[in-house]
Amino acid sequence: MSVASASLDIQKIREQFPILNQEVNGKPLIYLDNAASSQTAKRVIDSLIQFYEKDHANIHRGIHTLAERSTKAFEETRERVHEFINSAEADEIIFTKGTTESINLVAQAWGSKYLKEGDEILISQLEHHSNIVPWQLAAERTGAIIKVIPINQKGEILLEEYKKLLSERTKLVAVNYVSNSLGTINPVKEIVSAALDVGATTLIDAAQAAPHIKIDVQELNCDFLALSSHKMYGPTGVGVLYGRREILEDMPPYQGGGEMIKDVSFNGTTYNDIPYKFEAGTPNIGEVIAFKYAMDFIDEMGHENIQAYEHELLEYANKKLRSIKGFTPIGTSDEKASVISFLIENVHQYDLGQLLDVRGIAVRTGHHCTQPLMDFLEIDGTVRASFAVYNTKGEIDVFCDALESIVKKFS
Ligand code: PMP
Repeated sequence: MSVASASLDIQKIREQFPILNQEVNGKPLIYLDNAASSQTAKRVIDSLIQFYEKDHANIHRGIHTLAERSTKAFEETRERVHEFINSAEADEIIFTKGTTESINLVAQAWGSKYLKEGDEILISQLEHHSNIVPWQLAAERTGAIIKVIPINQKGEILLEEYKKLLSERTKLVAVNYVSNSLGTINPVKEIVSAALDVGATTLIDAAQAAPHIKIDVQELNCDFLALSSHKMYGPTGVGVLYGRREILEDMPPYQGGGEMIKDVSFNGTTYNDIPYKFEAGTPNIGEVIAFKYAMDFIDEMGHENIQAYEHELLEYANKKLRSIKGFTPIGTSDEKASVISFLIENVHQYDLGQLLDVRGIAVRTGHHCTQPLMDFLEIDGTVRASFAVYNTKGEIDVFCDALESIVKKFS
């Protein structure tokens, strides 16, 4: 047994995911679509039940006991995120409904104040649509221009080409930490540092990194970072936007409504302090509270152990898959999170996805919300298997055997 598998008790971990213990289409479920959404840990589900059965009340407004209880628990999650990503202060943590909303918040609020005609926004060829379209909308509104950081055929950012694109016109660099389609781990620290040299603001889309890699926003030195709870064993409907205090304070609000104000009259409104200035309306209270338990779960296992174990799964799967006739990996960077994208000669990716589903195996097919990346690779899409800490080598064996048998039928 390797060091990585020895440090985590995978069977115990699996017991914390009741959903895994079921049959799909008459076969034991093998869930390999974790990059889309990981499954929810039992303690997170328990917290949701506790909230809706015992503590449910709106936050920040009431003085009654339930309101105080839910407000305290909600703010505890903010403290927990602050610790989890090592922000300088808890006030730099804004709750959103996901990475998409976090990026839209920056594109709208920051973009409306700081972007002008001719300014340049740099994003990479690897981005998810949610780190492309908000910038296209901001560019349409402001006259700013989007420039694309090129990649190579392995799916790696070309750092030297990136540096050539940087100039005093660069106002923002927004890149993902880990590519959802290919699993590439990008050198974000170096990307941020080069952006700082030209005075650009930086945003990291950490949606795919947060479940696998320890995030330290102070060490990364980024201005903004976005993540989603549902990819971290937590509930859906909860995301985080980290922003540096000075920038958040200087930004106009994103949405207007309750909570984000200090005073409202028909003559005008005084906005609340951060983070509340960016949290208009009633949030997903119970889900935010439950997210704390997902971070506890990750921290108890330890990012290093998670990464080592998932890497072991990745290597194991890669080795087995390469022996399958017609197998072509898509995205072969040396630095990869536990995502394998691939195609198989003569079998359409959708057919593969469906035939795997018949065998109880859940994978993702299609463009994975990265159409510009697929265009660059000159493909329509891929089959994507993405592993979480509860996956096992036994599951990978079943997955590879299933692929072999499908391929045989087609040849
Ligand atoms: N960025 C990346 C890299 C992603 O993988 C995803 C989710 N697939 C998103 C952004 C969007 O996250 P959400 O749907 O949670 O807003």
